Amino acid sequence: MAEIYSKTQRAVRWYPPAYDIRVETVPVPKSAALSPAIPIKTLTSCLRSILHPDDAIVKITLAGLCGSDLHVYRGHEDVNDPLICGHEFIGEVVALGASFSSDATNRPALYSDLKLGDKVVSPFTVSCGECHFCRAGISCRCIHSKLFGIPDLPGGQAQYVRVPKAGGTLFKVDSITSLMPPGEEHTLADSSLLLLADILPTGAFAALQALQHPKISPWVNGSAYPYNSFVPEVMASSRPPALPLEDRALTFAVIGLGPVGVCATVSLLHLLAEIHEKSGVTFRVVAVDPNASRREKMQSVLALPSFPPNIDTVVVADIEDAKGVVARWTGGVGCNAILEVVGNNSALTLAYELVRPFGLISSVGVHQAPQLPLTGREAYDKNVSFDFGRCPVRSMLPIASSILIKRQDVFGGIGDQASLIEKVVGFEEAAEVYDLFDKGRCGKVLFDPWQ
Ligand SMILES: [Zn+2]
Ligand SMILES: [Zn+2]
Repeated sequence: MAEIYSKTQRAVRWYPPAYDIRVETVPVPKSAALSPAIPIKTLTSCLRSILHPDDAIVKITLAGLCGSDLHVYRGHEDVNDPLICGHEFIGEVVALGASFSSDATNRPALYSDLKLGDKVVSPFTVSCGECHFCRAGISCRCIHSKLFGIPDLPGGQAQYVRVPKAGGTLFKVDSITSLMPPGEEHTLADSSLLLLADILPTGAFAALQALQHPKISPWVNGSAYPYNSFVPEVMASSRPPALPLEDRALTFAVIGLGPVGVCATVSLLHLLAEIHEKSGVTFRVVAVDPNASRREKMQSVLALPSFPPNIDTVVVADIEDAKGVVARWTGGVGCNAILEVVGNNSALTLAYELVRPFGLISSVGVHQAPQLPLTGREAYDKNVSFDFGRCPVRSMLPIASSILIKRQDVFGGIGDQASLIEKVVGFEEAAEVYDLFDKGRCGKVLFDPWQ
């Protein structure tokens, strides 16, 4: 353990106004204002890094480059100070604040369970696990929420990172491998765990928030509207018969087949297969992207032998083809739901075009400042629902972990034709891969900070 703390580390830093990535030597996480009154449980050399008793310091083993890093990279986030990039990381706990103790009662379990040396996954935002939002499962809107990789909270493209509210934020890798049959833990690739920091839970969230939505539940549970959810007493006696299966076929589109789009498509198919198995409901999915290499990656994933035999109900298409496919499948009516994974106005315009009346657009792309492209009349005329926003990663980790375990053929490899992860590189290649990723010329890239 003594080797861990030199006073400096290597980190990927972004400089304003845009497109300026440098690899620099910086202090090990942010030190400064430590109160001498805060007792520290671990090595004295860690004293500089623990700023609050709820902090953990994580030695990073892998960090991700993510599509939403590009918003800062391009200068779209109104950030004016240099910062350590990255919000996706996994690693090993090397220091804990005083809150971590076997007698930490009435707090999230990790305050008593987490130990030095534990392997952990961190969601891309801090969540305390204790506030009203966290208790309700909406960890993305924790009152202490903070995104890693902003000037205030240095990011994960570094060798060490400080994790605030760590007992609520972190997730132990042990609790993932414990979901696996004994003896099979070795089949879970370490690199795949990085995908749990953001993109796999985000993809699963895009799918689940559609499948749980009241606009979609009549098809999922067979109860016609408005009997698909809470039913007032006065309606109970007039419940109509269950919808016949021929009325319950579901049609979805996924817009955007970058790494999150692949995660969304795989998650959607995983969840739809379970619905099909339980109830016989059939489904069709069109996965859409104008970029040919992204479509090829999606095709390779869908060609894996492990995908269910009804995979012919999934079509990968460019924008024009997708419009034709949806029109043909639905008699011109449109999709029940659209998973919009891009976060710009052209994607949203296409989503509106493809969605049916009384349908849903589940949007997890990080939209920016421009006004949305739809008028109120257009929203009214389709009775369309919009669900926008950040994934509650911490709350989604159990379901995302189960998909990760089952889909190691997609998430476990590196650089294979059907692998989501394209390559693992050292920080020296950071400027180059940011540039390639920005231009859509590479897929999911991970950094090994020690390479
Ligand atoms: Zn991300
Ligand atoms: Zn909270």
